[in-house]
Amino acid sequence: MASTKKGQIALISVHGDPAVKIGKEEAGGQNVYVRQVGEALAKQGWQVDMFTRRTEPTQEAIVEHSPGCRTVRLMAGPQKFVGRNKLFEYLPEFMEAFLSFQQQADVVYPLVHTNYWLSSWVGMELRKHQPIKQIHTYHSLGAVKYQAVTTVPLIASTRLAVEKTCLETVDCVVATSPQERDHMRSLVSTKGNVEIIPCGTDIQRFGAIDRPIARQQLGLSPDTKVVLYVGRFDPRKGIETLVRAVNHPEVRQHSDFKLMIAGGSRPGHSDGEERDRIEGIVNELGLGDRTEFLGRLDHTQLPTYYAAADVCVVPSHYEPFGLVAIEAMASGTPVVASDVGGLQFTVVPEETGLLAPAQDEDAFAFAISRILADPTWRDQLGKASRQRVESCFSWDGVAAQLGDLYLSHLDPLHGKLLSASVS
Ligand code: UDP
Repeated sequence: MASTKKGQIALISVHGDPAVKIGKEEAGGQNVYVRQVGEALAKQGWQVDMFTRRTEPTQEAIVEHSPGCRTVRLMAGPQKFVGRNKLFEYLPEFMEAFLSFQQQADVVYPLVHTNYWLSSWVGMELRKHQPIKQIHTYHSLGAVKYQAVTTVPLIASTRLAVEKTCLETVDCVVATSPQERDHMRSLVSTKGNVEIIPCGTDIQRFGAIDRPIARQQLGLSPDTKVVLYVGRFDPRKGIETLVRAVNHPEVRQHSDFKLMIAGGSRPGHSDGEERDRIEGIVNELGLGDRTEFLGRLDHTQLPTYYAAADVCVVPSHYEPFGLVAIEAMASGTPVVASDVGGLQFTVVPEETGLLAPAQDEDAFAFAISRILADPTWRDQLGKASRQRVESCFSWDGVAAQLGDLYLSHLDPLHGKLLSASVS
């Protein structure tokens, strides 16, 4: 793609390394977002450095992804995995490492795009040291998350305070859906600038293969009814609701149905309590021979699974955006999702898929069985899904919107021109 040089910017993602493999505990949508936004911005002429924390001594300090886009791993805290609720104490070290990197590289970033509340703190501290514009994406809001959990972590009050200061003081917060913006306004603060720019997906990769070929490659018969889950093993992802839903008679009546679960590790390589818990429920319900745990799949493998499926289910208790939904939709597969957060934005009920109340296994069973029972309707929903993603959720489109937002803050004249052209 032709590009004009637009400037050098930093994306900060302290706990979501854009260069790691996705699908295991704590590596999910944020890692994908930062990496894809970074690469798409670089194609559009930005020089993008993505900063994260080094979590293993053997990791490369700098990973070059494509011309103009690299990941820089900074030393902050122990060189091992540390859960996000335990990272706050290492942020001053992260900021010092960022400042040293700037000095060594002889660069002063004019703009930083921070991701998740931990990075927002780093950005806000940086602003005390140098004139730097800060754009922020939350990825998840403490105010929403803590409503839904029984035990609130010790870090909660710090997180809530940082998220409020961030919304009220940074140059602009990016909400990835109108629902996320509404939550910011009702639960965090009515002050501060918010722009809605969605997440995106790779529309060339997802959608490159059609159902019959995908099924052939996976050894699935054309008649098997395939229900797919893709994502991390985390109780808030609602995998239990899905497993219990497929056990309902409406779904089980399809004598040849299969539940495929992608994410985490393969059987025998447990990566956490949730993985074991879900496998326990599958066995208890006698679904063991109908269920396949695929382990973590990467973005070269996933398009085949999405395309092969009759329906992709996103049963999360809450989802600020939910990349999996648009990946499935881009692949022409309808989505049954929880009627929450960003999923209410991406999935259009009865047009591209169906929404069901979160944690309501009866409603999920009913929605899944409606799609399984009617392949012609499934195909119509799938076609409309693909069209919706093409027009609203390509990474190139998302990066162009983010680039315009950056320019409007770096160069106020550009902002005026932009607002004149849309009015
Ligand atoms: N993912 C993956 N391999 C897997 C499971 C998940 O690459 O085995 C990716 C998935 O394709 C998506 C991301 O992880 O891009 C999950 O993002 P989402 O926003 O759905 O959920 P999050 O993990 O942010 O809660």
